[in-house]
Amino acid sequence: MTTRVMNFNAGPSALPLPALERAQRELLDFSGTGMSVMEQSHRGKDYEAVHDEAIALLRELLVVPASHEVIFLQGGATQQFAQVPMNFLPRGALADYVVNGVWGEKALAEAGVVARDIGASVQVAANTGVGEHPVSYVRAPSQEELVLDSGATYAHFTSNETIHGIQFAEFPDFGGVPVVCDMSSDILSRRIDVNRFDFIYAGAQKNIGPSGVVVGIVRKDFVARGRKDIPKIFQYRAFVEANSLLNTPSTFGIYLVRNVLAWIKELGGVEVIEARNREKARLLYAAIDANPTFYRCPVEPKSRSLMNVVFRLPTEVLEDKLVREAKAKGMVGIKGHRSVGGIRVSLYNAVEPAWVRALTSFMEEFARTNA
Ligand code: PMP
Repeated sequence: MTTRVMNFNAGPSALPLPALERAQRELLDFSGTGMSVMEQSHRGKDYEAVHDEAIALLRELLVVPASHEVIFLQGGATQQFAQVPMNFLPRGALADYVVNGVWGEKALAEAGVVARDIGASVQVAANTGVGEHPVSYVRAPSQEELVLDSGATYAHFTSNETIHGIQFAEFPDFGGVPVVCDMSSDILSRRIDVNRFDFIYAGAQKNIGPSGVVVGIVRKDFVARGRKDIPKIFQYRAFVEANSLLNTPSTFGIYLVRNVLAWIKELGGVEVIEARNREKARLLYAAIDANPTFYRCPVEPKSRSLMNVVFRLPTEVLEDKLVREAKAKGMVGIKGHRSVGGIRVSLYNAVEPAWVRALTSFMEEFARTNA
C-alpha cells in the first residue's frame, strides 16, 4: 500500500520510487558496513565507491567527453551565479548574459556585483522580458537577436526558465565564446552535446536527486584558466583536482544522486527519458490547446518548456479551484510560482506518464463542468 501522491512540484520535486526504496533498504546498514552512508567518512572506501559511481554514471548517461570533468558542488545553483564570474571574469574583462526569465536575471545581477569591484563588465546579449513590475517572459530569444561580443570571456544562458516555463529547443551558437549554462531544470531530461559547453551547472533537486548537491560539468582547459586569486573553496579548479572531495561533500545527497542515476540507466538512459518527457509534455499541451477558451498557455509555441508547463484559466478563482480539486484527487504541486500566479505543472524525469494522463483527464472534465 502506498499513500504517495502524484507530485508535480517545481523543485524540490518527485524522486523515482525505486531510488527511494533503495535508500530505504540501505538506510540502516549500507553495503554491510553496519551504518548508514550518512554515518561514514567521506574519505572511506565505501563512500568513495558511491561517489565515484555517481560521477561515472553521469559521464555515461550524458556522454561526457574526456575533455570535461564532472564535479559536485554545494551552495545551490544560486551560489554559482556568483561563483561563475568569480572564477571566469578576470579584471577588466567582459561577459555576455542572455536573459530569458527570472533565473537569468538573477545570474546577471550577481555577475554585476562581482564585475563592479574588479572593473569588469557584464553585457546583456539578449533580454526577452516585457513590461515592468513584474517583467513577464514568454519566449527564449532567437539566434538573430543575440548581440554577442567576440571578446567576451564567456557567455551565460539558462537552458530552461523554470518559473515562466520557457526552454531553448535548440541551444544558441555563441560563435566560439566559451559557453556557461545554468541547466538546473532540464539537465538529464534530453540528450545534449556536452562538447558545446565549457561549464554546465545544475542544482540536483529537479532531475537528479535531492537539494544540497550541485552538479558541474567543466571543460578542463576552461576551468584551468579560472582565477587563482580567490579563496580556494570558490575555485572550481580545486574541486576538479580533489575529485570533489576538497572538503566534506553532501554525502547522503550524492548517494541519492547515485540511486537516481542508476534508475535512469535501468530505464534505458537519457534517450528513453527524453522520449518519455516529450510524450508527457505533448499530452499536457494538447489538453491545454484542446480547450483554448478555458486554458491558455502564455508561452510562444517554439519556446514551450518540456519540463515546466505553465497556463492560466479564465479567473484566479477557477485556478484555485483547479488546484484544490486536483489535490483531492492526489495530484499536488501545480500552483504557479508566487511571483506569476496561474498553474505550473512540472514534468521532471521522475514524473510518471500515468500521472500526466490522470491530470489531463481531470483537466478535460474540469473544463467541461466549469466553462
Ligand atoms: N536556476 C534555475 C533555472 C532554477 O530553476 C533554480 C531553482 N528553482 C535556481 C537556479 C536556483 O537554485 P537553488 O535554489 O539550488 O539555488
